Amino acid sequence: MKLQILGCSGGIGGKRHTTSMLIDDDILIDAGSGVLQLSLEQLALIDHVFITHSHLDHILALPLLLDSVGAMRDRPVTVYAIDTVLEILRQDIFNWRIWPDFTEVPPECPYLRYSAIDVYQAVQLAERVITALPANHTVPAVGYQLSSPTASIVFSGDTGKNPVLWDCINKIENLHALIIETAFPQDEHGIAEISKHLSPSTLLEELKQLTANVPIYITHLKPGREETIMGEIAELESVEYQLQALQQGQIFNF
Ligand SMILES: [Zn+2]
Ligand SMILES: [Zn+2]
Repeated sequence: MKLQILGCSGGIGGKRHTTSMLIDDDILIDAGSGVLQLSLEQLALIDHVFITHSHLDHILALPLLLDSVGAMRDRPVTVYAIDTVLEILRQDIFNWRIWPDFTEVPPECPYLRYSAIDVYQAVQLAERVITALPANHTVPAVGYQLSSPTASIVFSGDTGKNPVLWDCINKIENLHALIIETAFPQDEHGIAEISKHLSPSTLLEELKQLTANVPIYITHLKPGREETIMGEIAELESVEYQLQALQQGQIFNF
């Protein structure tokens, strides 16, 4: 199983792209601006899109993806999310005002199909298993556990402090890596709290609950503040974690 980071920034500017990851060549985890780097041929191969939550930085490429390759495909793209997130996509994006409702068009072969999932539900796609994990954000949200037959990577999604997540992570026996957000530097700690994101100090508080010693990759860094955030984490760190910034273009084989 191959996981490729298409975008992992909290914003745009220069080559930065927002959250999206490609599994093999047919599954997307979130559809932020990272998707815009894929070729038309690569876009047409995507059959499944798992959405963590409805914020624009995680869904912005989805409407254009469907419109660009829908007619090249013989089956709909399946979009998986918790029901409340799908309802937001229906009401606020694919509503004929912002974009067409592609679950209805074209009538003979719609471009889009919704599949509601529950938190903790596992979806098996060939040998790959995608399991929704709880997140604590300002809107309904999840993270995902991505599992091959031999190993798992956990992606926190956008989240503030989230004790139940650690119960889930600590039960995973084959944990290979953790990808967790730290959206804001310490001088914006207050904004992080209000917007239910992590800052360096809250990240390190959260990591105290992690029992496995696995590589930890930091994502969703605010554009222009990447070095500050990573520097502050290193400064505040009292335990030696295997910790580094997630990189756009990074590939995990597991
Ligand atoms: Zn968000
Ligand atoms: Zn976000």
